[in-house]
Amino acid sequence: MLTSMTLRPCPICRTPTAWEGNAFKPFCSERCRLRDLGAWSTESYRIPEKPQEEHGEGWSEAIPEE
Ligand SMILES: [Zn+2]
Repeated sequence: MLTSMTLRPCPICRTPTAWEGNAFKPFCSERCRLRDLGAWSTESYRIPEKPQEEHGEGWSEAIPEE
């Protein structure tokens, strides 16, 4: 019975996708899977901005020698 195949809409493009034998499930294809991963990594690339530490040390200042 072919009707027993599980069809799920691809989360990316909404195409009804067979899960059985689908290496890219729940996505319909590698393209959609990579797209999802791409969106994911883009989110993780958002690193909270860290306030730069002030260089409070005055040792680097040129001290005029007498
Ligand atoms: Zn898709």
